[in-house]
Amino acid sequence: MAKYVYFFGDGQADGRADMKELLGGKGANLAEMALLGIPVPPGFTITTEVCTYFQREHSDPPGLERELLEHLKRVERLAGTEFGSVENPLLVSVRSGARASMPGMMDSVLNLGLNDRTVEGLIKRSGDARFAYDSYRRFVAMYGDVVMGLKPQSKDAEDPFEVLMDRRKKMRGVTDDVDMTVEDLRGLVSDFKAMIRERMGQSFPEDPMEQLWGAIRAVFNSWRNPRAEAYRRLNRIPDDWGTAVNVQVMVFGNLGERCATGVAFTRDPATGKKEFYGEFLVNAQGEDVVAGTRTPQQITLAGSQRWAQNHSIAEDERKKRFSSLEEFMPDEYHQLTDIAETLEKHYHDMNDIEFTIQDGKLWMLQCRIGKRTGQAAVRMAVEMVEEGLITKEQALLQVEPDALNQLLRPVFDPQEKEQATRLARGLNAGPGAAAGQIVFNAPDAQERTARGERVILVRIETSPEDIKGMNAAEGILTARGGMTSHAALVARQMGKVCVAGCSALEIDYAKRRIQVKDRTVKEGDWISLDGTTGDVYEGQISTRPSEVLQVLFDGTLKPEDAPVYQRFAKLLSWADEFRSLGVRANADQPDQCEKAVAFGAEGIGLCRTEHMFFQGNRIDAVREMIMAETTDGRRKALAKLLPYQREDFAAIFRVMAGRSVTIRMLDPPLHEFLPHDNKTQADLAKKLGKTTEDVRARVNSLAEANPMLGHRGCRLGIVFPEITEMQTTAIFQAALKVIDEGILVHPEIMIPLVGFVREFEEQARVVRHVADEVMQKEGRRIEYLLGTMIELPRAALIANDIARVAQFFSFGTNDLTQTTLGVSRDDAGTFLPFYLDNIIVAHNPFQSLDVDGVGKLVRLGTEKGRHTRRDLKVGICGEHGGDPHSIDFFHRVGLDYVSCSPFRVPIARLAAAQAALRGR
Ligand code: PEP
Ligand code: MG
Repeated sequence: MAKYVYFFGDGQADGRADMKELLGGKGANLAEMALLGIPVPPGFTITTEVCTYFQREHSDPPGLERELLEHLKRVERLAGTEFGSVENPLLVSVRSGARASMPGMMDSVLNLGLNDRTVEGLIKRSGDARFAYDSYRRFVAMYGDVVMGLKPQSKDAEDPFEVLMDRRKKMRGVTDDVDMTVEDLRGLVSDFKAMIRERMGQSFPEDPMEQLWGAIRAVFNSWRNPRAEAYRRLNRIPDDWGTAVNVQVMVFGNLGERCATGVAFTRDPATGKKEFYGEFLVNAQGEDVVAGTRTPQQITLAGSQRWAQNHSIAEDERKKRFSSLEEFMPDEYHQLTDIAETLEKHYHDMNDIEFTIQDGKLWMLQCRIGKRTGQAAVRMAVEMVEEGLITKEQALLQVEPDALNQLLRPVFDPQEKEQATRLARGLNAGPGAAAGQIVFNAPDAQERTARGERVILVRIETSPEDIKGMNAAEGILTARGGMTSHAALVARQMGKVCVAGCSALEIDYAKRRIQVKDRTVKEGDWISLDGTTGDVYEGQISTRPSEVLQVLFDGTLKPEDAPVYQRFAKLLSWADEFRSLGVRANADQPDQCEKAVAFGAEGIGLCRTEHMFFQGNRIDAVREMIMAETTDGRRKALAKLLPYQREDFAAIFRVMAGRSVTIRMLDPPLHEFLPHDNKTQADLAKKLGKTTEDVRARVNSLAEANPMLGHRGCRLGIVFPEITEMQTTAIFQAALKVIDEGILVHPEIMIPLVGFVREFEEQARVVRHVADEVMQKEGRRIEYLLGTMIELPRAALIANDIARVAQFFSFGTNDLTQTTLGVSRDDAGTFLPFYLDNIIVAHNPFQSLDVDGVGKLVRLGTEKGRHTRRDLKVGICGEHGGDPHSIDFFHRVGLDYVSCSPFRVPIARLAAAQAALRGR
């Protein structure tokens, strides 16, 4: 027969830590603590199965009531009290507890069991009438909110209990809760009950059993509240898990000066240092610590002294008013640190604990794996391995891959940030912190940076023309565009801080100002971008580079002086031992390649050649090529580009020193390279010896309604094969030159946007022919691969045919997402934020792969491709290559490598290791 209720307490428990599915995290851990002999107030857990049953059938499962009553009896016996007794009443808490932590999303009820009669018993037992009535009024309010549905539905709505409380305080002429007398509190209980009767048309239940069932059902129902639902979508928690309910004997930290309550971490969650860290309050309830109404005291003496120093509090005052638990209750303190040690050893991880001390007796209310910063995560993982507490595999699984970002990004001074005024919030497209003066166009950004100024480039949206300005700027802020908009993509690749799609900004280029509601900021004003959160602040907040970058790039720190770097490097070296997925980088400049290699990239998975067209004055030749109306004219212009491209490729090959370099042929629509404003059109006309009208007419003739689906990708090289010829010549001449310098070269040439086999064949013919020609002329041969991107659904569907001619595949999941979903990657910003807010989609599909849809095409394409060519090398180079959740999927599909922006390479290495470890 099904068991629905699990006991815990007094060294015994029906459950265990590994029963989270059934008992939820809180219930499973309470059981485990009880089994470890740690003092937990006795109680029982009602399983998640009851929640799912209750949601489905709208009634309790048969047998639940009997089981619950049996367990209640057992708890009563242990506690030596009786539920509903007037003499010695048992009070319980009823709390939610799902399999995954959902902090604050569901409901709890405390002090349950109180009524007009049992409150007298509580007075007798505690000898404290004020305490008893304070508990009672808190209970009625909580019950009214949670069970009877009086909780305000919006943040702005008034809480009816608070209204009554304020009215009474006013009546009595007091401002603080502590000034309320027993009479006041007793009066409040009646006020509360009267209001409930009036509003709800039913009375507050005096019967403790009725209270208990009401609370249990309300907590089960809170699984379905909109907040909890939204939280689940965002954190990928399935709706059908359900929550467990924990009913537990109340213990009180607010029964006088021998009582306290607190929260602690077994190690410092901010720095990761092996140092017990926590706060407590004397004579208080748990909610007072969280509410921040009183200043909590530090648990350890060292922590307390540090805190006093930071707050300029003298030692004698500290001792008097803010002494540590270590000094104040040394026995309980030592018991607590022993428990902390036991928990760490047992769980092999840092724990976050809640405790209460009632009359000198320590009780543990909760333990769970504690949240931590990126720095702390890495430090704990590495140090725990060194301490012999965990294995390398456990360490690798302990660190969120994305948390590594925090070790790479410049950081804002936390105090300055707290005082700054926030202007708006956009997408956190390029993490890190940057401050600078506002400029509105790329040339200004370059010019002012050249003068030694720091600028933030603010654009409605960016285009390839802006690249140099973006590179010069400290950070990039756009009003339009999503996570794979040009700005976001390029910023991440450059490692620039970027806030994209900040739609609250009204940017006026002509007046050179930004309007955000009633605030205006102008060109030259300072703003600060937090690309990790997406926040935009007015003014200048100071930043500093991270330790890891100071070692890897700046050389301003030696590895031996950089403990953060050492731990970072160590963890990643362990990741490399376990992962099977290769990790490459998307990079198209030698300095980006250097960074990628420093971060551990094993090759370049995508070199977007068009990004090179904007450097120096080569854009003139590019424009001349596009403006040309004959093949000869185009060839002439392309000849000017050839030496530049050759040098670009040679420089990359040198840096990559024998690692594979995947070079993609020209991809974007040509008109992206043309000037769109009058002045630049006139300049170009002069350079080309044409009229401005001619230039304008050509620009107009090249405009497309839907450029992303227009003349781009391999379609360019097919209509204008001379472009592919020039690029192939440049690649092979560069490769031979670098080989002459004694450096190995492994080029992989990639054709974009292939949908028909014939497209690939056409381009392959050109590449092979030109490669042969160059190699013949130089009298040497080099090995190279010729493959394609799979970024159109049709390509995935006919992958078996394409694999007959292509030597490798690389999934372009940016375009594949765009074309599979029919969502323009550049315009998604117009509605995607709404979709995300309203959870029509749980994740941005351009950021985290749509596994159910696009993922099917990736799997199909891989299987079909390998069916034809067993050893087909398959990678992915869309933005998803740096997303841990997507990487897990790519590992399961069996791809050979992922390629991502240089700054995500460490994240990808760790995510790949985790995917391999999870798959074991
Ligand atoms: C892609 O489409 O996923 C891709 C990598 O190419 P791009 O982003 O340059 O279109
Ligand atoms: Mg693409």
